[in-house]
Amino acid sequence: MITTANSLDITSIRNDFPILNEIVNGKQLVYFDNAATTQKPRLVLDALSGYYEHYNANIHRGIHHLAEKATGAFEESRRRLQKFINAPLSEEVIFTYGTTDSINLVAQTYGRRFLKKGDEIIISTMEHHSNIVPWQMLCEEKGCILKVIPINDDGELLMDEFEKMLSERTKFVSVVHVSNALGTINPIKEIIAKAHAVGAKVMIDGAQASSHLAIDVQDLDCDFYGLSLHKIYGPTGMGILFGKKELLDAMPPYRGGGEMIKEVTFAKTTYNELPYKFEAGTPNIADVVAAKFALDYVDNLGKENIAGHENDLLEYGTQALKEIEGLRIIGNAREKVSVISFVIDGIHHQDIGVLLDQQGIAVRTGHHCTQPLMQRFGITGTTRASFAVYNSIEEVDLLIKGLHKVKKMLG
Ligand SMILES: *Cc1c(COP(=O)(O)O)cnc(C)c1O
Repeated sequence: MITTANSLDITSIRNDFPILNEIVNGKQLVYFDNAATTQKPRLVLDALSGYYEHYNANIHRGIHHLAEKATGAFEESRRRLQKFINAPLSEEVIFTYGTTDSINLVAQTYGRRFLKKGDEIIISTMEHHSNIVPWQMLCEEKGCILKVIPINDDGELLMDEFEKMLSERTKFVSVVHVSNALGTINPIKEIIAKAHAVGAKVMIDGAQASSHLAIDVQDLDCDFYGLSLHKIYGPTGMGILFGKKELLDAMPPYRGGGEMIKEVTFAKTTYNELPYKFEAGTPNIADVVAAKFALDYVDNLGKENIAGHENDLLEYGTQALKEIEGLRIIGNAREKVSVISFVIDGIHHQDIGVLLDQQGIAVRTGHHCTQPLMQRFGITGTTRASFAVYNSIEEVDLLIKGLHKVKKMLG
């Protein structure tokens, strides 16, 4: 086995992920669709079934043993996530269905309450649809103006252009920390400081960053940060919104219902305190409880070790792919994570995806929920290979071999 300079034992890590033993089209699965969702280690799967087998109960209002145990585990996960992003207070961690839900929450509560006609909202060219559409919906309703930071041909934000856009009319900035389609790591600390200097609030879409980079919301000084657990080796259907307490306190509730209230009468309802004000209804208890185990898994390996291994795969893969004739990598930022998007002259990305799948290799093809970004590059989509901690150099070699085969068949 080719070893990298890193201390991680990839063979043993692979054994933690049962799905990697799947046979696809007669071949051992090679899973390179990690930017869409990561696979789950055994301890997360065990945590899910353990919850349902031993302490499934509704939380917060019960006084019986199971309800207390479930409530304890649920709130422990909140404190675990607080630590994961270094939030000052646990009530600043709101459980949501994921990043999309977190952004919609902010647009629909902070945005609707505090943004007015003529106010400007800035996003960037490389946003995921989930960080475009909620703001367009808000602009349509309130008469706000959406502005878009342009990028260069390498897929990096043009910071000079961003600075020119900023004025006292700028009230909100919402940008992606790491691009899912290009891998670009954006200079968000600088963006946040510059936005704050004109009095704007800032939301960061951390869906792609959170599995690759250490997140410290106090160091960043962001007002809001959203992420999804399913991209950090955790379960689907849950994520968090971090928000600064004074902002969350000032915001109206999102959904109305049980748990988010203090007292209900037909004359008037008073709302619950944070974080429950934003958590109406029975939450996704099982997945929240299991999320803690995913974060424990990541922190046990060490985010720096994970990033080191992924960067080895990125460098190795980038070099090897560049040698394929007619292949062009989309997204060559100096700062990027282990995502490689590419196009091959004369071959449609969908055909590449189908032929790789026949060889057991899972990649994503298409626009990656970033259609405006694809338009910027004058393409309809790419083929994207994105690496996680359990991927190996040998698997990257299989991708290269697979692409040569595709070229022979279609090129
Ligand atoms: C995946 C992703 C989202 C959406 O996350 P969901 O879990 O689908 O809500 C948003 N932004 C980026 C950059 C992503 O990669």
